[in-house]
Amino acid sequence: MIKKSLGIISVLTLLWMIYGMFTTLVLRKTSKRLVKKLNTDGIALTFDDGPNEIYTIQLLDLLKRYDAKATFFVVGEKVDRHPEIVKRIHQEGHAIGIHHYQHLSSWKLTPKQLEEQLVQTDKAIFRATGEHPTLYRPPWGFCNLFTLQKAKNLDIIIWSHIFGDWKIHNCKRKLLEGLRQVPADGSIVLLHDDGANPGADDEAPAFMLQQLEKYLEESSQQNISFVKIEGRMLP
Ligand SMILES: [Zn+2]
Repeated sequence: MIKKSLGIISVLTLLWMIYGMFTTLVLRKTSKRLVKKLNTDGIALTFDDGPNEIYTIQLLDLLKRYDAKATFFVVGEKVDRHPEIVKRIHQEGHAIGIHHYQHLSSWKLTPKQLEEQLVQTDKAIFRATGEHPTLYRPPWGFCNLFTLQKAKNLDIIIWSHIFGDWKIHNCKRKLLEGLRQVPADGSIVLLHDDGANPGADDEAPAFMLQQLEKYLEESSQQNISFVKIEGRMLP
């Protein structure tokens, strides 16, 4: 009896890994639908997990000061809590993409649930901005077997550079140096303007913003342009 149960659990675990983990690895290696770099000059700064009532506001002020454009991958339920922030993101000329309605891994979602996450977030962004998003970044970059089909009308944006900025010690130790190494040839940089997810430090965005400010100041001396992600830049 125990042996049979263990057998069933092993089979289910294997199926789940094929549904999520293996599919993510294969798609990241092989699929052209998962965009990791843009066909453009400049750098695309992207910010996940907001909007946050403190940090997203500070970030928008900072971007405005340096005339930098960015892309925000927002969580739908937070959009519904702070539509005025999302409206401001839109009005200030940044791009907005879907990061699920709740911050849930695609590995835990059925095909139907994944579709609902996309549809609900699309609606929330539309209510806040009057425009439908065309960009999508799944939380943690995790896909499942149905991601390409369910997101067939969306451009799936992954990243070329990631620095672990959800941890305060990474922001202090290596973020600025990491940012300095990013080539301005269509690189996509992943940062976070909210720290509420499990495994993240709540106040990490405050430390990210300190380093980002130094980086933008340095970059303004070097004429590096910071661009929002648009369809024409996709490979
Ligand atoms: Zn996220």
